Amino acid sequence: MRQHGQRTEGLISWHFRNVMINAEGATTATLPFIQNAEHVSRYLDLDEQIKKDIDAVSRHHPLKIPEYYIGIMDKDNPLCPIRKQSIPSSEELMNNGDLDPLNEKDYSVTPTFIKKYRGRGVFLVNAECAMYCRFCNRRRFVGKGWNPKKYWEETLRYIKKGEDIHEIILSGGDPFMLLPNELNYLLERLRAIERIKTIRISTRVPVVFPEGLYEDHFTAIRDNSPIWIIIHINHPKEITPAFVEKIKRFREAGGIILSQTVLLRGVNDCPYILQKLFENLVYCGVKPYYLFQFDEVRGAMHFKVRVQKGIEIMRFLRKNVSGLALPHYVFDIPGGLGKVPVNYRYMKKRKADKIYLEGFSGTTGVYCDDGKESRCIECGLCKET
Ligand code: SF4
Repeated sequence: MRQHGQRTEGLISWHFRNVMINAEGATTATLPFIQNAEHVSRYLDLDEQIKKDIDAVSRHHPLKIPEYYIGIMDKDNPLCPIRKQSIPSSEELMNNGDLDPLNEKDYSVTPTFIKKYRGRGVFLVNAECAMYCRFCNRRRFVGKGWNPKKYWEETLRYIKKGEDIHEIILSGGDPFMLLPNELNYLLERLRAIERIKTIRISTRVPVVFPEGLYEDHFTAIRDNSPIWIIIHINHPKEITPAFVEKIKRFREAGGIILSQTVLLRGVNDCPYILQKLFENLVYCGVKPYYLFQFDEVRGAMHFKVRVQKGIEIMRFLRKNVSGLALPHYVFDIPGGLGKVPVNYRYMKKRKADKIYLEGFSGTTGVYCDDGKESRCIECGLCKET
């Protein structure tokens, strides 16, 4: 391994605190990250059995927590939602669930490009995150030393050739764990393809490791604008002054900011917690976009929430929060069959042209569905797409 600290040749030429490059060329990290039970016990009071469990689990699913994130944990509360998301538990040794619950391997057209939908695809730009979330649905490779950078050029060639692709989602791992000039390189290459109209970046760095975002990351966003930034955030405790500050910086750099949340048992499966999370996100300029039903992830099934509970939470939110703070509650169908919304049936019945709809207060109203049949206006747009 070699420590970053001075200018080197090629892409990697930027000083980045606490970043190492392993023998494969993958970016990994050292302090301020906590990476084993001994480190954890410097912050939390752990008995010997829990320490053994943490080390046993980390041999299968590695442990990494930024010092910042452990700093927002309630150290005396074993049920703290920050702790639940970051500290391994012996339940992870259960072997139920799937290592690739969304069957991403079968949809991979290059080793780092997943093409499931028409028009868009997911580019896995790295395999490193600031924190290894205990419920991660990509734990089959995140933090395990795989180096997606080796396949960047192959994927860029595929995107350049793929005639129906106009939207790219940069994911990983976490794209903001790349060095700023690496991220900028990818954004510039994508921007140079005229057909690519939309670029999204999925990230958890502003939530778990805000100090990992540097001036040059914001410059890369500004220089390749507009960039959609989708922030993975699960609990209102994660909205701290440091997080709010980084959101402000993204907005100043021209980023368009949305959030995604995973519904997690024992972390956020409560309407009041999610109301607070989604409203506070809107207050700082983030539009809640998706609430995900939990994927069937190997070793993380203890986080699974019943769908009925999710539907009840969404009914509560529809009644109590502004539409701006209301995400889409969606399922990613196992096996990679795509995302579909999970909805309470507000449309109760239909009689002739009358539709009976239940309002948020439980009262039913009637809509008369007697519009005339739609017909083509022969504008020709369908022949262009
Ligand atoms: S940030 Fe995302 S990809 Fe990384 S460990 Fe967490 S859930 Fe997985």
